Amino acid sequence: MVNPRIKAVTMDSLALAVILVAVGILAGVLFGANGVRIATSMSIVVTACVGLQVFSGNTGIVSFGPAAFMGVGAYTAGILTMSPVVQRTALPHLPVWMAGYGLSVWSSLIVAALTGLVLAGVSGIVMRRLSGSAASIATLALQIIVYTVLVATKDITRGSQTFYGVPRNTTLVVALSVAALSIAVARTFRDTRTGRAVRATREDEVAAAAVGVDVRQARLRAWLLSGTILSIAGALTAQFLGAFGPKDFYFESCFLLISMLIVGGIGSVSGALVGVIVITAVTELLRALEGGGDILGFSVPALYGLPLVGASLAMILVLFIRPTGLVGSRELELSKAWDPLKGRDSKLLPGSQDFQAPKGAHALEANQLSRHFGGVRAVDGVTFKAEAGLITGLIGPNGAGKSTLINLLTGQLRPSAGHVALGSDLIENKQPHIIARAGLARTFQNLRVFADMTVRENVLVAAEACAADTALSVWRTNDALARFGLETLGDRLAGSLPYGQRRLVEIARALATGPRFLLLDEPAAGMNPAETKELMGRLAALRADTGVGILVVEHDLHLIMSLSDTIVVIDRGKRIAVGTADAVRTDPAVISAYLGSKRMGEKKTQVETSSVVQVIGASAS
Ligand code: ADP
Ligand code: MG
Repeated sequence: MVNPRIKAVTMDSLALAVILVAVGILAGVLFGANGVRIATSMSIVVTACVGLQVFSGNTGIVSFGPAAFMGVGAYTAGILTMSPVVQRTALPHLPVWMAGYGLSVWSSLIVAALTGLVLAGVSGIVMRRLSGSAASIATLALQIIVYTVLVATKDITRGSQTFYGVPRNTTLVVALSVAALSIAVARTFRDTRTGRAVRATREDEVAAAAVGVDVRQARLRAWLLSGTILSIAGALTAQFLGAFGPKDFYFESCFLLISMLIVGGIGSVSGALVGVIVITAVTELLRALEGGGDILGFSVPALYGLPLVGASLAMILVLFIRPTGLVGSRELELSKAWDPLKGRDSKLLPGSQDFQAPKGAHALEANQLSRHFGGVRAVDGVTFKAEAGLITGLIGPNGAGKSTLINLLTGQLRPSAGHVALGSDLIENKQPHIIARAGLARTFQNLRVFADMTVRENVLVAAEACAADTALSVWRTNDALARFGLETLGDRLAGSLPYGQRRLVEIARALATGPRFLLLDEPAAGMNPAETKELMGRLAALRADTGVGILVVEHDLHLIMSLSDTIVVIDRGKRIAVGTADAVRTDPAVISAYLGSKRMGEKKTQVETSSVVQVIGASAS
C-alpha cells in the first residue's frame, strides 16, 4: 500500500499542477501564440517563485537573492547550450573548458541545478548561521555580489552587454513540466521531516532547538533546495529569452517574485502558485495598456513601467487587507479527508509498550552552577541533583533565578561557572538541540508553541527531531497527544487554541522527544484551578507510567508540595534549602525568604502570596 502521507501530498501537488496546466492551456486557447508565450513565461516564474518559497516560506526569512541564483543558472545554461559556431563569435574569449558543449535543454537544466547547488552550498556556510533580518541582508549582499561578478566576468558573460545566441528550447511543455515538478518537490518538502523542522524554526527558533531541531542544518537544507530550483528557473529563462543581460536577474525580477509570494501567501506552495497567476494577469493586462492609446474610447497617455507599479500596488493592497496572502499559510489540503497519520493511530494506540524508551537511571545534576548578567547574580553557585524517575519541585520567590537555572540546564544559556551533568556526561557547553536529544526536554515560562503549525505538527516536529525512525516518532506523537487530551485537536493551528491548551501542547511537544527529564517552567501559569489540578494529575500519571524524571517550577506551593518527591528552594540565585515537602515547609530559611520578600514589598503574583500564607503560614506563626 502506498504510504498515505505520500498519497496526500501527491494529491495536492497534482491538483496544483492541474491548475497550472489548465491556466496555461486556457491562455493558449484564448490568446493564441501570445497566450502560449505568456503561459510559458508564467510557468518559469512559477518554478522560480516556488524555489523562493521553499526557503523564504518555510524559514520565514525573506530572501532578496532569488535572482542571483537565476542569473547563475541562466548564464550556465546559456553557455552550455549555445552552438559552438555561434559561441566562437559571441564569446571569443571563453575559457576552453567551458566552450563547445551545445547541450540539450534537459542536460543544461541538470548542470544549472548543480551550479545552483554549489552556489547555495558556498553561501549557505554563512546563511545557515543567520536568522531574521541579518539573514535577509546577507541575501541582499549575495544578490549584489553575483550581479557584480556577472558584469565583471566579460569573457564569459559579455559583461553588461546582451548575452545572445542561446537556443530557445524552453517550450511550453518543458516549462510546464518543470513547474509541475517543482511544485511537487516544494509541496513534498514542506511535509518532510526537514520541512517541518524548518517551519518550526520559522515559528520559534529557540523552541525548535529546545525540542532537538538542528536549526542550522534545517535552514541550510531549505537554502540548498531553494537555490537549486531557482537556478533551474534561470536556465529555463535563458532558453526562453534567447538573449538577456545581468539586469534581467537583478532587483526588478527579485521584487516581482517577492510580490507574487506576498500576494499569494508566502507560507504555502499553493500561495506561490496563486500569486504568480494573479500577478501575471495584472502585469500582462497593464503591459497591454502601458503604451497608451485608445482604450475603451478614452485616449490614455503612455505610462511605461505600469506593470511594475501594478504589481507593487497589488502587493500593498494584500499586505493591507490580508497580510498572510490570498491563500494564507495552509496548503490546499484536498487530502484532508485522509489525514496522513490517522491511518496509523489505531494500530499504535498509546499504552503499547513497544516504543517505551528504556530510561537508564541517569540523574540530572547541577554543580556550583552560576550565571551572572553584569552585576546581577541570577544563579549563584547552585548545586542540586534531580533523581531519575522522580518529581523535583523547584521553588523560590519571583526573580529567584528559577528560569535562568532551567535555561542553564537545557543550554539556552551558557553558565558563567559550574557544571551540568546528565548521568556521567557533562552537558553545560553543548548546544540546546544536542541536549534535547540527550534527554532533557523543556517548556518555557512564556509560551513558545509553533503558532502557525497544527497541534500535531508541533508535537511531531519534536518527535522526529529526536527519534531514530518514523514509526517511533509517530508513536511518540500519538502517545504525547493522548496523554494531554489533545488527540481531537491535532488539526487545529496551535496558535488558535486557548491559553491553557497551548500550555498542554508545549508539554506534549516536550514529551514527544522521549526525554529522560521533563523540565517544566511554570506549566500551570495562566490555567484556572481546575485545569491546574488536572495537569498535576496528568504529570503524576506520566511519571508513574513512563518513569520520566520531572523538574517543575510552580508558583502554587500547595500543588508542588503534594506532587514533588524532593523540593529545591532557591532565593536570589542561591540554593537555600533542599529536601522533602515537610522538611522544606518548616525550614526557617524558606519561611524567611518567602515572608521576607513579601514584607519588603517585592512584586508577587496573587497565587504565590496566597499559597505562601496557606502553606507556610501555620509554621510561621
Ligand atoms: P525566576 O524565574 O525565578 O522568576 P529569573 O531566572 O527569570 O527568575 O530571573 C532571575 C534574575 O535574573 C532576575 O533578577 C532577572 O531580572 C535576572 N535576569 C534574568 N535574565 C536576564 C537577562 N537575560 N539579562 C539580565 N538579567 C536577567
Ligand atoms: Mg521564571
